[in-house]
Amino acid sequence: MEDRILNSPEVIVCINSDNYSEAAKLLFEQQNETWKLNRDNYTMLKDVMIKSFRFGSYKIKVQFNPGRMTSTSAKVDEKSIRERKCFLCIDNLPAEQKGIIYKDEFIILCNPYPIFPEHFTLSSLKHQPQRIEDTFSYLLHFSKDLSKHYSVVYNGPKCGASAPDHLHFQAGTKFFMPLDNEFHLIKNEFGRLLSDNEDILITAVDDGLRKMLTMESTDFDVLKKWFDRILKILNKENPSDPESMLNIISSYDEEYGWQLALFLREKHRPLHYFAEGEDKILISPASVDLAGYCITPDKNTFDRINEKIIKEIFQEVFINEFKFSSIQKSIMNL
Ligand SMILES: [Zn+2]
Repeated sequence: MEDRILNSPEVIVCINSDNYSEAAKLLFEQQNETWKLNRDNYTMLKDVMIKSFRFGSYKIKVQFNPGRMTSTSAKVDEKSIRERKCFLCIDNLPAEQKGIIYKDEFIILCNPYPIFPEHFTLSSLKHQPQRIEDTFSYLLHFSKDLSKHYSVVYNGPKCGASAPDHLHFQAGTKFFMPLDNEFHLIKNEFGRLLSDNEDILITAVDDGLRKMLTMESTDFDVLKKWFDRILKILNKENPSDPESMLNIISSYDEEYGWQLALFLREKHRPLHYFAEGEDKILISPASVDLAGYCITPDKNTFDRINEKIIKEIFQEVFINEFKFSSIQKSIMNL
């Protein structure tokens, strides 16, 4: 374990002043110096091809990223998971990989197969299942402590987490996902206020592609309390085993506090994903994709993707209008 920890004097100074954002940046720089695979993959990322599609006031980008093949086509059924070595457990990490211990519970690791220009996996030190119910506090802590440079995301075990058996979040360069920038714009244009409690704003947003709930507050405890209530509603009205299908993006600002978007999912992978031959569209939507940055490791997909296909994929993987409206009613009755 000890040899895993990056404990250079600079990192220790950052951690002691609670500046995990700078500590993570130092980790990123150090890993690029000492770990060839990491360096090569971040160098390649600079040359990836990107397309951008406009949907009225917001945009969806598509990145052709061959390095993400393993993740996009990951087999996440129970049998495949049982039969592979867990790639997030400390003992199975590559020899060169170092990390920063966080609150004695997590380790911050550089993600060697990046989407973001700086991309981290925030991995539990214990091998325990991916769940949000008892771990939402960590999402809030990470969002605040990494907020200077990074946003944080959560992928549910059945909708995007490539290690559903090992609890983890991810962090990446702030304002890289289009929704980081468009959050207020989309909320103002398509949002419906569900709670005007003075300590928290909760809004339901259907922007034509996505159905989401947004939460904004400066108060940690209030957010936690409301999230627990909302999760109960989601587990009841959009049930799935082991938890309602959910992707979350979260960021924090000194002045305005936390801002979260909860993507409400019906399905993991769309029909396009399972099509054969040329028709196959290799996009497996998770937080970053739904926040406006779709990743495909497949050139044919990148060449063929258009507004119509994006719309079909998004509409299929989000919950339907009936469920969404019933969830909104329940939240308003809280
Ligand atoms: Zn594990």
